[in-house]
Amino acid sequence: MPRSVDALRQLAHEYGVCTRPVMLRRTDLTTGVSEVIDLPCGATREDKCPPCAKRARRLRQQQCREGWHRTDEPLPEPDEPTEGQRSLIVLRAHFVFERNRAEQAAEWDQVRELEAAIAELDQAITESGMRGHLTPVGKPEGDDQADAPKPVRRVRSTKRRQDAPDLPRLKVAPTTVGRTYEGRDGHVFQPSTFLTLTLDTYGRVRNDGTPVNPATYDYRRAAWDAVHFPALLDRFWQNARRAAGWSIQYFGAVEPQRRLAPHAHFAMRGTMSRDLLRRITAATYHQVWWPPVDAVHYPDHHAPIWDPDQKAYVDPDTREPLPTWEDALDDIGDEPVHVARFGPQVHAEGVLGGTAKADKLIGYLTKYLTKSVDTCHAIDTDRQRTHLERFWHELRYTPCSPRCANWLRYGVQPKNARPNQSAGRCKAKVHQRTTLGMGGRRVLVSRQWSGKTLADHKHDTRAWVKALLGVSDPHDQVPATDAEPGTPAPVAWEMARRDDPDIPPIQHRLLRSISVRIQQRAQLNEARERQRQIKPDHDDATTGKVAA
Ligand SMILES: [Zn+2]
Ligand SMILES: [Zn+2]
Repeated sequence: MPRSVDALRQLAHEYGVCTRPVMLRRTDLTTGVSEVIDLPCGATREDKCPPCAKRARRLRQQQCREGWHRTDEPLPEPDEPTEGQRSLIVLRAHFVFERNRAEQAAEWDQVRELEAAIAELDQAITESGMRGHLTPVGKPEGDDQADAPKPVRRVRSTKRRQDAPDLPRLKVAPTTVGRTYEGRDGHVFQPSTFLTLTLDTYGRVRNDGTPVNPATYDYRRAAWDAVHFPALLDRFWQNARRAAGWSIQYFGAVEPQRRLAPHAHFAMRGTMSRDLLRRITAATYHQVWWPPVDAVHYPDHHAPIWDPDQKAYVDPDTREPLPTWEDALDDIGDEPVHVARFGPQVHAEGVLGGTAKADKLIGYLTKYLTKSVDTCHAIDTDRQRTHLERFWHELRYTPCSPRCANWLRYGVQPKNARPNQSAGRCKAKVHQRTTLGMGGRRVLVSRQWSGKTLADHKHDTRAWVKALLGVSDPHDQVPATDAEPGTPAPVAWEMARRDDPDIPPIQHRLLRSISVRIQQRAQLNEARERQRQIKPDHDDATTGKVAA
C-alpha cells in the first residue's frame, strides 16, 4: 500500500506547493487577531524543495526572456514603500540586532535560529513586492550579484596589466539595446545572440566525459581554470564592451560539461560579428598572481603547526614560521602562477525574439539551474566515478583565495592566518563535491538586463495573476476601524514557532496549501475562459465599427 506521507508529498509537488514552508505570524494590532502565514521556503535546488526550485527556475526564465530582446533602455522607477513593508524592515532590524547580541553572548543556537528567521523575513519582504535585497547575514548564498565591486588588486608591475592588445578599444556608449536591421520588405528586426563559452582542453575525453588517458589529463589546470572561471567571464564581458563600444547586457548560466569542466551559456542582447566575438574570446585571459605551487612542501602527514605565541604557522621540525602571505607575494617573479583562457571553440548564433527557437534556448539555458553541479550529469560507470573523485581531490587542494588553508601545503601562511586551518579542509564552496569548483553564482545577470531584480519579476507574476482574478492582495488593505478607509491596519510580524499551540501539524498545513492552490487554479482557469469569451465579442464590435 502507498504511504500517505508520500502521496501528500507527491500532491504537493504536482500543485507546486512548498513542502517545507516557513511560518510568519501576522497580528492585526487593532483587533488583536493573529494568523500564521506559510511562506514558501524559496529553495533554488531540487534536492531541497522541488516545487520552490521549479518556481525559481520559471522566474529565471521570465527574467531571461524579458531582457533578451528589449527594444528600449531599461529605466527602473521604484515606488514608495508601504506601511506594511516598512514594518517588515523594522522587524528585520530588530532581528539583526538580536542576532548580533546573541553572537556576542556566544548563544549559537539563537544565532542560527535568528539567521534562519532573517532569511525567511527577507523572503517575506520580497513577497511584499519590494525590489532589491538587504545585505544577507551569516553566509551569503547570493546568486544575483553580477557586477559587484571587486576588491582592489595588488598591481605592482606594468607587465601585469591584463590588457588585450589585439582588440579594438572603443569608448563604451551607455546604450544597451542591440542594433536593428531592415529587411527587404521594410520589416525591421532586432536580433540577439546565444553564446557558449568553453574552457580549453586538458586532454582528450571520451563520449562519457572521462579522459582517454587519465594519467596525462591535466587535472591541475582543470581545477585552477574552474576556480577562476568567473573572473575570466568578467574579463570577457569587459573586453567585449570595449571592443564593441556599447554596454552589452547578458543573462548567463554556469554549468558543468560532461567532462565536469565549467562552461557558460549566455543570452546576449544585440549582436556583433562572429569574427569579433571569436577575436575577443581568443584575446581574453585572466592572470593569477599568487605564490608558486610547483612543490608540495607540507603534505597532510607533515603539516605546519600553529604557534599561539607567534600567532603563525611554523615548520613542524624547525619551528621556524612560514613566510607570511605578504612576504610570499613580494617574492613572486614576473610569471603569474596561472593564466586562465577559453578554448578555441566559440559557439554563437543569432536569435529573434518571440520565436520558438528563443524559447527553446531559454529552456536550454536554465536546464540545470535546479541541480547541484555533481548531479547535472548521470555518473553511472566506474570510469566516471573515478574521474569525478580525481577532479574533486584536485579541487580540494587548489587554493581558492589568499585566505585559503591550502597555502599551508605550499609553505605559505594564508592571509590573516588563524588556528585550526589545514590543507584540504578549506570551507569555501569551490572545494565541495557538490560544486566541483563552481562555488560562486550559477546565474550571471548584468545590471541593465531587464531593469528589474528577481524580486520585481516575482511581483510581476503575482500582480498578473491578481489582475486576471480581479482580486487585490488582502494583506494590502485590511480595513481598520479607526483609520482612513483604504489605509492598512497596523500589523506586527514575527516568526511563528513550531511548538506554538495554534500551529497545526505540517501535514495539515500542506493539505490546506494544496486545497488553496486547487481553488486558485480553478479560479484562474475560469478567469481565462471568461477573457476568451469577452475577447471575440470585443473583436466583433470593432470590426462592426470599421465596416460601418
Ligand atoms: Zn519550498
Ligand atoms: Zn579554499
